[in-house]
Amino acid sequence: MKNKIIAGNWKMNKNRIEAEQLVTELIPLVKDTKNTVIICVPFTDLCTAVKLTKGTNIHVGAQNCHWKESGAFTGEIAPSMLTELGVEYVVIGHSERRTYFGETDQTVLLRTKAALAAGLKPIVCIGETLDERNSGNMENVLRRQVVEGFKDITAEELANVVVAYEPVWAIGTGVTATDEQANDAIKFVRSVFAEKYGKKAANALYIQYGGSMNDGNAKGLLAMSDIDGGLIGGASLVATKFATIVHSK
Ligand code: PEP
Repeated sequence: MKNKIIAGNWKMNKNRIEAEQLVTELIPLVKDTKNTVIICVPFTDLCTAVKLTKGTNIHVGAQNCHWKESGAFTGEIAPSMLTELGVEYVVIGHSERRTYFGETDQTVLLRTKAALAAGLKPIVCIGETLDERNSGNMENVLRRQVVEGFKDITAEELANVVVAYEPVWAIGTGVTATDEQANDAIKFVRSVFAEKYGKKAANALYIQYGGSMNDGNAKGLLAMSDIDGGLIGGASLVATKFATIVHSK
């Protein structure tokens, strides 16, 4: 079994002082893990997080980036602006961005491609809504998100991508997918990647589960055959909870 990739998604939480406190508390709590630890923080906390985690095993990620290098794109951040700060990862296509900010499979692809070109490792989020699951469309939706969202991504590029399977109905709701639901969906997603990139590349691909993962349920989820880690929102805002997840497997 692979080591896990455990990523915290702080969303729009923690100002500079709070970020400083959280990172400082987290560093000693996760220093002995073999798993990869990432914190994806608001843009305004990136400098703080990069500075404080220098020389530690914590990697820093942003929560979005644009696909152009510069230009008239008010409010957007270019990938090279992130790498220049020492940022290594970037979340792309989170369901909150798809739902509230019009993100589509096409813009996800553009952002992923640009992030990779700049040397960032994208954490690309996919996942179905409750309606899509209940109407029997889950697999169609996941297939579409993979086929469209990875259209131009080469096998070499895929090696630097992390995928997060996050059922929309489980994000921030306290309703976690069961271990089996999460594992089955990820198995399906992996099979779609295998169709395009081959079994070896699909098996090597890291696919996380995200959606109300916490210090109580992480052990079960992370013990499943196909779950390679977690993308954690709420529980990543408390150092001890996040550290417990990091050490769950
Ligand atoms: C997320 O933000 O990707 C997420 C999974 O949030 P939560 O853990 O709070 O459900």
